[in-house]
Amino acid sequence: MQKIPVYEYDPHQKSGKIYVRLTEGLFQNLRRLISGSLMLMFFATAWINFDGQQIVLFDFFNRRIHLFGLLLSPKDLFLLAGMMIFGATLLFAMAMAYSRVWCGFACPQSIWTWVFIRIEDLTEGSRNNRIKADRNMRGMNLVRRILKHILWLLFATLTAVTFIGYFTPIREIATDIMQLNVSAELAGWIIIFALLTYVNAGLTREKVCLHMCPYSRFQSVMFDENTRTVSYDATRGEPRRTERKESAAEGRGDCIDCKLCIHVCPTGIDIREGLQADCLACGACIDVCDQVMIKTKKPTGLIRFKSANAEAGKASPVWRPRLAGYMTVMTAMAVGLGWGFIDRDAVLIDISRDRQNLYQVDNRGLICNDYQLAVENVYLEQQALSIAVAGKQYSLSGPQQIQLPLGQRGEYQLRVCRQDDTNPSRAVQFLISSSDQKWLADTTFIDPAGMH
Ligand code: SF4
Ligand code: SF4
Repeated sequence: MQKIPVYEYDPHQKSGKIYVRLTEGLFQNLRRLISGSLMLMFFATAWINFDGQQIVLFDFFNRRIHLFGLLLSPKDLFLLAGMMIFGATLLFAMAMAYSRVWCGFACPQSIWTWVFIRIEDLTEGSRNNRIKADRNMRGMNLVRRILKHILWLLFATLTAVTFIGYFTPIREIATDIMQLNVSAELAGWIIIFALLTYVNAGLTREKVCLHMCPYSRFQSVMFDENTRTVSYDATRGEPRRTERKESAAEGRGDCIDCKLCIHVCPTGIDIREGLQADCLACGACIDVCDQVMIKTKKPTGLIRFKSANAEAGKASPVWRPRLAGYMTVMTAMAVGLGWGFIDRDAVLIDISRDRQNLYQVDNRGLICNDYQLAVENVYLEQQALSIAVAGKQYSLSGPQQIQLPLGQRGEYQLRVCRQDDTNPSRAVQFLISSSDQKWLADTTFIDPAGMH
């Protein structure tokens, strides 16, 4: 039989610090694939421009959100709210089907924590080295520790700059940084977000997941007897083999009590004690235990994703009414959101009266009112628009055919004159139309009679 490494240290050191051991395996590869793709998206998307415009930009200063070619205004906030509700429902469905897989595989807190742990492993060495180094923080150990914190801070700063780049054009930020021309305000935001990243992913790590994240507290109400959770097969594993000799295996379970499942756990728990709210479902203990089982020539899966019903030998379907309910809600929301995006206004219109001169009498003796019309194109491409005024008693002067590129706002001076006083009305309606859509903007017309 192959020798299984024995680790002398308790994972919960007296300091309460958790020393995570890195491992390999199916779930770690899956986690790297998912988290690597999400991280790449985060760092790359901010740099992608389309038609000279950053494709994702939350431009709160101008009350606009650029989202993959769409320009969203405050009128579209219900679409953003819908997307958030869709995301929350997806989280509920995931938690119900496979417990906290969101936490283990896709949550930014976990993704960044794993990167920081990887940096720690590269600079300070393996788990055992780090434990020993903590007892003798001098010489090269100190140099490695300082290097780790420098790399953490650099990565945290890169994260902060990218994050802020979703709220202020990232190319402008990069230019300011390259030219060492960073405003105090920008520098302040970078420092705040870099420190938050450094503290969350480097220093507090699992404490954020265990004590600060609300999701971990209410996820248990989403679990049922068919939820697949990371669980230890006690029937197979117990009683544990504390002796490593082959002869000691007689009458014993498959768990050799190597404690590797605890050492790789980012929250430092012992999954053999049963289902725990602190388990992030990252699968690290499954991977490391499978390696042990292979080495001891036992079947893998002593720790695995399994539901309580499956554990009890009962049927355990993944698809069940509550999950189908979540899927129905998500499908309905996806259709509603799709329709909302297709049907939303392609232009934003704002009409205001000239407040200096309530009305004018022109050289033909007609009563006229002046207006300022602001039109913004929030469609996917340039638009040709016509401006007209409704009602035969009114005539319009000013631009009546305009071209507006995406995201551009145009302001136009318009004059409306009433040429027929037989049925004096104090309502005016502007009609703005593209080749396939029409928008109406109502305002008032003031004449001398209306002044009294
Ligand atoms: S469950 Fe597996 S990894 Fe954990 S102590 Fe037992 S044999 Fe080792
Ligand atoms: S118990 Fe296993 S799956 Fe749960 S957090 Fe720890 S290592 Fe990850």
